[in-house]
Amino acid sequence: MDNVNAAFKWEYAPAPEAKDHARIKKQYDLFINGQWQKPASKKYFASFSPSTEEKLSEVAEANEKDVNTAVTAARTAYDKYWKKLSGAERAKYIFRIARVMQERSRELAVIETMDGGKPIRESRDFDIPTASNHFFYYAGWADKLNYAFPNRNPQALGVAAQIIPWNFPLLMAAWKIAPALATGNTVVLKPAESTPLTALKLAEIIEEADLPPGVVNIITGFGKTGAAMVNHPDVNKIAFTGSTDVGKLIQKAVAGTNKKLTLELGGKAANIVFEDAPIDQAVEGIVNGIFFNQGHVCCAGSRLFVQEGVADVVIRKLKERMDTLIVGDPLDKNTDIGAINSKEQLEKITSYLKIGVEEGLELYQSSHCHLPKKGFFCKPSLFIGAAQSSRVAQEEIFGPVLTIQTFRTIEEVIEKANNIPYGLSAGVWTDKGSKIFNLTTKLRAGVVWANTYNKFDPTSPFGGYKESGFGREGGLHGLHPYLRF
Ligand code: ADP
Repeated sequence: MDNVNAAFKWEYAPAPEAKDHARIKKQYDLFINGQWQKPASKKYFASFSPSTEEKLSEVAEANEKDVNTAVTAARTAYDKYWKKLSGAERAKYIFRIARVMQERSRELAVIETMDGGKPIRESRDFDIPTASNHFFYYAGWADKLNYAFPNRNPQALGVAAQIIPWNFPLLMAAWKIAPALATGNTVVLKPAESTPLTALKLAEIIEEADLPPGVVNIITGFGKTGAAMVNHPDVNKIAFTGSTDVGKLIQKAVAGTNKKLTLELGGKAANIVFEDAPIDQAVEGIVNGIFFNQGHVCCAGSRLFVQEGVADVVIRKLKERMDTLIVGDPLDKNTDIGAINSKEQLEKITSYLKIGVEEGLELYQSSHCHLPKKGFFCKPSLFIGAAQSSRVAQEEIFGPVLTIQTFRTIEEVIEKANNIPYGLSAGVWTDKGSKIFNLTTKLRAGVVWANTYNKFDPTSPFGGYKESGFGREGGLHGLHPYLRF
């Protein structure tokens, strides 16, 4: 079998995307009140490329004082400018951000890939276009809030503190900022410490779009900076995407205050393949669901459930497809799987691979997959024979690691898919529409994809159940968390 696979694994010549047009400054200050301000902390920290391990830039570390300056700027901007503007006027600014993002999309894609490690194909064809689409979409709502919520007199909340993770740095910033501005709020946003660069580029775009000073403030720092944002008394709304552990801390910190909160946390999605599914498409969907993007997606389809009659064929085809996946330089246009975001994350994934093997599961990794010597990379990995209780099938790994379980009946797979603390997303592969409708009503997941996976659109809401958080982002639903009635 190996020889057959070797025969059809093509070798591609390197096709790296040019990076000379990507302007990364040596050092970034904090973007507060429409200006680049030195941090009161006087401290800076480095952002590294996970694929080359080189230092790309250094960014300011905001302390409590800096957070206070940013929140004060956002409050002043809210009172002085933003709440006085009509929805149509706000929309003009938001449209402008979307257009400048489009114009600078190539540069943004390259920097996203350099700073975060994801393949250029993903950042160029998905992250950046979807981020600017978010601004376009929410610009359209800014002057229609009274039609979206008739007779309810929707009002902005005030200052929104927004904290985002490293897996979709620019897209998460867009998910957070666009609805906040459309609904008339002002913003203080903090990107993750390992991927701050595209958010800082967005600050440049906001300058270029000539937003009134203080409407959007972008500050950088670690968890402590995030905690200072959460605890600031003049913040009206907190929007957080990240780990379930930090989400719980934030929920505790906010308890008893008047702050409105949305949390988008971890996931461990079930991807369910029935015997009547189109198998080749399903295999492609499985690969897309967990391996592309290094499994750095909270909605990654990391638990595969296959109906017994097709288990052998699905596993065979999946292994064959895994043999063709290219892991390597994320700037190369042929790369399927880029770098793991950080050394710590790679260590976490590696420890789970060890746990799976110790649990007695069969681990498949392609023998054709060769990892670059430098940088943080992981082979796509498949655990066959997982039990419902296997740790690798229960805990969020956030890497290119897939477990396979088999099932016989619909009832059994619903029970197994739901028996997990998370509930962010799921996938269903079947020829029968009735089965899809049956499952979508019974799976406890915020999003259920049918015969596809990881499809996103600004018009459709996204969010979780149970320990995956609460509140929705995207679509009309995404306006709610930023309004009072
Ligand atoms: P991940 O495991 O994906 O890195 P984290 O939840 O640790 O997720 O980080 C997501 C974001 O939350 C990052 O921007 C991080 O700096 C921030 N963060 C970490 N700890 C805290 C905290 N205690 N309070 C607020 N924000 C935090």
